[in-house]
Amino acid sequence: MNADRKTAIEGILAREDKENIPLKPFTTDNFGEDVFHCGRMKERLPKPIYQKLMDTVNEGKALDPSIADAVAHAMKEWALEKGATHYTHWFQPLTGTTAEKHDSFLEPSGHGHAILSFSGKNLIVSEPDASSFPSGGIRSTFEARGYTAWDPTSPAFIKRGRNGATLCIPTAFCAYTGEALDKKTPLLRSMQALTKSVRRMMKCFGDDGTKNVRITLGAEQEYFLIDEQFYYARPDLVQSGRTLFGAPPPKHQQLEDHYFGSIKPRILAFMTDVDSELWKLGIPAKTRHNEVAPAQFEIAPVFEELNLAVDHNMIIMEVLKQTAEKHGLVCLLHEKPFAGINGSGKHNNWSPAYGNINLLNPGSDPHQNAIFLTTLCAIIMAVDKHSDLLRSATASAGNDHRLGANEAPPAIISIYIGEQLADVISQLEKGDLKSSKHAGTMRIGVDTLPPLPLDATDRNRTSPFAFTNNKFEFRAPGSSQSCAGANVILNTIFAEAIDEIAAQLEKLPKANFNNGLQKVLQKIIKAHKRIIFNGDNYSEAWRKEAARRGLPNLRNTPEAIKPLLDKDNVALFEKYNVFSKVELHSRYEIFLEEYERKIRIEGELALNMVRTIILAAGSRQLSELVKTIAVMDGCGLKSGLASQKELADRIGKLLDGITAAAAKLEKILAKEETGIAVVDALCELRKLVDTLEKQVDDDLWPLPKYREMLFIN
Ligand code: ADP
Ligand code: MG
Repeated sequence: MNADRKTAIEGILAREDKENIPLKPFTTDNFGEDVFHCGRMKERLPKPIYQKLMDTVNEGKALDPSIADAVAHAMKEWALEKGATHYTHWFQPLTGTTAEKHDSFLEPSGHGHAILSFSGKNLIVSEPDASSFPSGGIRSTFEARGYTAWDPTSPAFIKRGRNGATLCIPTAFCAYTGEALDKKTPLLRSMQALTKSVRRMMKCFGDDGTKNVRITLGAEQEYFLIDEQFYYARPDLVQSGRTLFGAPPPKHQQLEDHYFGSIKPRILAFMTDVDSELWKLGIPAKTRHNEVAPAQFEIAPVFEELNLAVDHNMIIMEVLKQTAEKHGLVCLLHEKPFAGINGSGKHNNWSPAYGNINLLNPGSDPHQNAIFLTTLCAIIMAVDKHSDLLRSATASAGNDHRLGANEAPPAIISIYIGEQLADVISQLEKGDLKSSKHAGTMRIGVDTLPPLPLDATDRNRTSPFAFTNNKFEFRAPGSSQSCAGANVILNTIFAEAIDEIAAQLEKLPKANFNNGLQKVLQKIIKAHKRIIFNGDNYSEAWRKEAARRGLPNLRNTPEAIKPLLDKDNVALFEKYNVFSKVELHSRYEIFLEEYERKIRIEGELALNMVRTIILAAGSRQLSELVKTIAVMDGCGLKSGLASQKELADRIGKLLDGITAAAAKLEKILAKEETGIAVVDALCELRKLVDTLEKQVDDDLWPLPKYREMLFIN
């Protein structure tokens, strides 16, 4: 075996942390100990101030600036007790990660003294120099100011470093001119829009329409873990987050022996550390398990209010990465770090609730059934009308490798509702109002739904958008993406659909409500049922069927983000005050540019690795063969000569092929705009390199192999 790879493996085997990791003590008291949550605020704030703050947190009322100083003071005192020396406005720019700029509490007070200060103004706004964050042309360079503004609906928390701590204040980030430059602002706007629409719909069902609307999200996060020694020996992983080359080993996931398998001690120690960190941050990490691919895992928290859940998912990704480092591991959040085996997604479990009823809970009485079926039909309409927008929210260079590949929902968006609901829907569609006793028809508001057995709805793992008991699970988003994008779209298109339904219901005379509702839903089902598909989404037959139904199949990022520019979509987002036209256009620009840059980096990296690592290994192999052949020829040895020559010829041809494919890639990279041409060229190059890997002596191949990275930890 190659000496570097051997050293790496020996290093892993000799790790000292195999035993005697101290137990992580944990009680419920530790949960949220690093969060300035509502309970803590109640303890530390004067009652009237606390009450005013809660009006903002719970009911979305505008923040009363006069309370800011008192809140800031209490927050600072608490943070200092926790050992914080600095504070930061923590936000989510369009880079896809989180951003922070720390300021210390320390302030000189003259005469060589200092005080610790943190004012209401410090809490509410900050003005980071934002010139280097993507703005898609919104902010001209001479007006580089951006603002971060406190989001009181997501509590402040403490982030700990090795030797200090920082108070993090979740904020929204916008331009001087008011345009959103982040992921949180449109999310909050979309939640506001949906709240209004849900209340309007509930009024149609005889409610007063004043209750709280709570949209919830449970995000399942998939990730890979590999040993850092392998990671640092792979320039592609270090620079692009995925392996650009690498032949899948004979055994990978075929035996399905990893999924839910017993968790290896080293991995379990990592997971325990992660859970303990997350619990301190008030993040209810609940589930942990091995995923389908070797070295792939999942973590899922209990669902929470949407805005908080999105923030928490961003923190989860960071904690995964940082904790991995402590354990000598690297956490790969890329959607497709390894070719030929499963990629990683982020299952977005979403449901809207009004007061204390989950609108996606079928319930057991006709009234709740009617609300549920209306909600279901609204979603069917929304997703059918805007499947392209939902797809756009999942577009990224990384996720392109996943959608449609192994164990990933395809790029065609459809809805899975399960056999039983499909039957209900078809009864509703057929429903003959005059003779409701008709076998196999259902009269809304009068008949009750048959009880839906739990889990009967969760059998189809191939659907990108599946009804699962009392929520919809959107499975197309990528593992490294923020959940914000998908939920902004989901909230907005759902708001539009229920508004459209409510507008019709409002016109119905009370006495005829149930019949009228039935007709409204019937029409929706007739018009939009093509989006429902309960079969195997991975099959070629579905691809054809979807095309026949006219469902979009947007295969790559440039195609998938185009709908953001569509006139009707711009009008939709403007109507609901989620995005202005300028904001949408800027996002389109940013996403496209990010895609181009990532693809270009991969292309250049591949070229570099081929020329400095791979061709070198191949030529060494060839030169050894040639020497052997010369010696054999010299001493007149006949046996074995032909096979050596054949091998040399095969390697020589591969080297020629790789050289030519690399030259082709280089030519494409020389152009200004590259896009999927690079992806294709890289794919071609990779095939040859992976074939070479299988031919070259193990001691000459310097890059850690799949069988090592995926199985040795
Ligand atoms: P799976 O079978 O997909 O693993 P789980 O039942 O484990 O499904 O749930 C996955 C995620 O969905 C969890 O984060 C869970 O808390 C969340 N979840 C459950 N109910 C709801 C709901 N009503 N709204 C949003 N998320 C939910
Ligand atoms: Mg799931």
